Amino acid sequence: MSDCIFCKLVEGKIPSTRIYEDENVIGFKDLRPQAQVHHLFIHRRHTRDIIDLVSCDPDQLGDLFRAIATYTAKESLTREGFRLVTNLGPDAGQTVFHTHFHVLAGEQLGSFGA
Ligand code: 5GP
Ligand code: ZN
Repeated sequence: MSDCIFCKLVEGKIPSTRIYEDENVIGFKDLRPQAQVHHLFIHRRHTRDIIDLVSCDPDQLGDLFRAIATYTAKESLTREGFRLVTNLGPDAGQTVFHTHFHVLAGEQLGSFGA
């Protein structure tokens, strides 16, 4: 999508610090990190959010989760643990409408929920 910032990032039209790359998925450092380790994983094919992805192109889920599993194991993030988050819509604070997963790690993360 031409007006999507993460599609531009996939095409290399805006800069990013890539930490993972394969034929389907790109991982890169978040511009405004919320933890010691804060990476984003996106599929090269555009979908708007996780619901759009599941209904339009569900194979992306396997591609994304395999990439995240490969990367977190390689970097030993699986040892101390990590948090995997995707936001959908305004209440969750979604600001970029190209499906992405946040990987947060490298420190004790705050608890959330009830
Ligand atoms: P959301 O709030 O939609 O779940 O997450 C969007 C994330 O993308 C935010 O954490 C924000 O810091 C990050 N972000 C927004 N624009 C850019 C950018 O141009 N480059 C990078 N690396 N991260 C971005
Ligand atoms: Zn996009």
